[in-house]
Amino acid sequence: MKTRRRPYAEQRPQDLGGGVWSVPVPIPGNPLGYTLVYAIDSPNGPVLVDAGWNHPDAWEALSGGLTALGLDVSAVSGVVVTHFHPDHAGLAGRVREVSGGWIAMHQDDAALVRLMTEYAGRAHDDFQTDMLRRAGADPRETGKIMGDRPAPPALPDRELRDGDLVDLPGRRLRAVHTPGHTPGHICLHLEDADRLFTGDHVLPDITPHVGIYPYDRDDIDPLGDFMTSLDRVSDLGPLDALPAHEWIFPDVAARAVQIRHHHEEKLERLRALLAQRPQPLTIWEVAAMMTWNRPWEELAPVLKGMAAGEAAAHLRTLEARRQIRRLAGVDPVRFQAIDS
Ligand SMILES: [Zn+2]
Ligand SMILES: [Zn+2]
Repeated sequence: MKTRRRPYAEQRPQDLGGGVWSVPVPIPGNPLGYTLVYAIDSPNGPVLVDAGWNHPDAWEALSGGLTALGLDVSAVSGVVVTHFHPDHAGLAGRVREVSGGWIAMHQDDAALVRLMTEYAGRAHDDFQTDMLRRAGADPRETGKIMGDRPAPPALPDRELRDGDLVDLPGRRLRAVHTPGHTPGHICLHLEDADRLFTGDHVLPDITPHVGIYPYDRDDIDPLGDFMTSLDRVSDLGPLDALPAHEWIFPDVAARAVQIRHHHEEKLERLRALLAQRPQPLTIWEVAAMMTWNRPWEELAPVLKGMAAGEAAAHLRTLEARRQIRRLAGVDPVRFQAIDS
């Protein structure tokens, strides 16, 4: 399947038929290469699904790509954002500026955008140092793991909840809340065409990042949510998937089942790993023992930080399933297996 991945330079805007188009929009300096922005025909002007990264080259690609397809970015009636990440929501504000259209996103991601807007510009150093210490890392060795944050995306004009229909006259585009990758991630079901815009939730080859920040939160279970969201998507049946990265593929249900299986295996390996250790482990120790796409020692600090977030999410799911426990009152936080 990997051979089907093509670099951005080989991507072209496409008419997908049935009043749906795709425009590849580059993500500068990111190995993912590009975001697939979709346009859906509407009597009020096209509705976009996602908008791409906020960068002049990306704007050029989006507006030029729409023009090449016979559409006009200034005629866009609205942008529905699958989730708040900058490769999806980044350009939504600029599209709104030139078109006067609306921006819609799920209320849980809208709440995060409000928080980000409130905290923009404030230092994250203390937050990061504290989080790393509680995870068992030495912040002096790990360096800056959270990277520089892009400016928060534009605040939406409309907030969606699960099951809401997006404002798209003459068609049925329904929001399906699929939390996990972000709390307010949505897939968008074009019910009159058996197509599902999957955002980052279900991609054909890779799996999205699912992490917990700060690492030791025990009041949420993003990976558990993600797997429930995969079940929701498989329940929709073998729809055509229009993802935000990589390529379009058939039968979203089959792929959702496959990704769920991948995480179940990873959870089982992690449970077995903890069961073999007499000593309780920190989140950082667990992250260093898990399998990543390259050896732990070779991961750049930002990637180590994300790997630790994923390790923390898997630990939290095992804890929620009562297969492991976290030790009370210890700093850094430690986990151990529960004998079954
Ligand atoms: Zn994302
Ligand atoms: Zn993405």
